[in-house]
Amino acid sequence: MAENCIRVQNLLKSYKDLTAVNNISFDVRKGEILGILGPNGSGKTTTLKSILGLIEFDSGSVEVNNLSIKKQRNDILKSVGAVLEGARNIYWHLTPMENLAYFAGIRGLSKRDIAERAEYLLDSLKLSDVANKEVRQFSAGMKQKCALACSFIHDPSILLLDEPTLGLDVEITRTIMTWLRHVVEKEGKTIVITSHNMDFVESICERILIIRKGEIVSHETVKSLKEKFSKKHFLIDLAEEPQSTLMDRISTLGEASLSDKTLRIELKTVESLIPLMKAIEESGVRMLNFRTVENDLEDIFLEVIKEGKQ
Ligand code: ADP
Ligand code: MG
Repeated sequence: MAENCIRVQNLLKSYKDLTAVNNISFDVRKGEILGILGPNGSGKTTTLKSILGLIEFDSGSVEVNNLSIKKQRNDILKSVGAVLEGARNIYWHLTPMENLAYFAGIRGLSKRDIAERAEYLLDSLKLSDVANKEVRQFSAGMKQKCALACSFIHDPSILLLDEPTLGLDVEITRTIMTWLRHVVEKEGKTIVITSHNMDFVESICERILIIRKGEIVSHETVKSLKEKFSKKHFLIDLAEEPQSTLMDRISTLGEASLSDKTLRIELKTVESLIPLMKAIEESGVRMLNFRTVENDLEDIFLEVIKEGKQ
């Protein structure tokens, strides 16, 4: 198993009476993209800010590359880049080139390194054409790409991104996605992303942490999340409309509904499949077709949120 590069243990953060992050623990493995998914106000930003040491948490610990954020923050930040929600970390009255030079200066890069790094980032994020235009004229997507480039100027090994695709169009989202994949696959970087965009998370992350009201409700790979929920969801086409006794009987196995002659059922457990088949057979109605429904991640997300802690 790959080594961990971020370890969050029993992280707790409250704002007065409100517990924003309630005792959560998780690891981020070197070279992965971990997605943090959750409804508004569930504690995603608070978690990222805690990892960055931007806020003081009440208890628990955060370690990045085996260093403690409370004790060795400056050392940690040398190998971390971050863009918090809204890309407000860059200067809108400067150009991308000037922003990059500014952030490179803060990070102590040499002039030669700055030029080389800036060229690479502008090119790979498709910003070269606008390198000398003021950021304030840009669309939200272009600003976001510029913020990404700046967060990456010092070649950090870890990137923390808060809602990087919020409100962005499909094309920019795709450019960002391709670039993030590239830096993970080709440069061995590690990325943590919070997002509302299920498609984005699904296509880019290997593991997803779902949080709700400051608590982790699910922590799995995309593959196992899908498997877990899709197997239990079936559509069965019948030759004729069944009698209500069949519906009564199978309602104990899971949530069932009938639309015309198609029976839709979400079984409580996969094992209920056998009694379901038996019930249909005994009702005398012929089964024409039997399909499983592949839940997309959005369904799964809603499902997990509804079920609460597992
Ligand atoms: P998310 O990023 O998932 O939308 P946040 O981490 O921003 O969630 O917020 C978690 C909870 O903490 C929310 O209920 C939010 O209102 C509250 N919160 C966040 N920041 C502050 C703050 N500075 N002061 C008071 N409450 C806050
Ligand atoms: Mg947030």
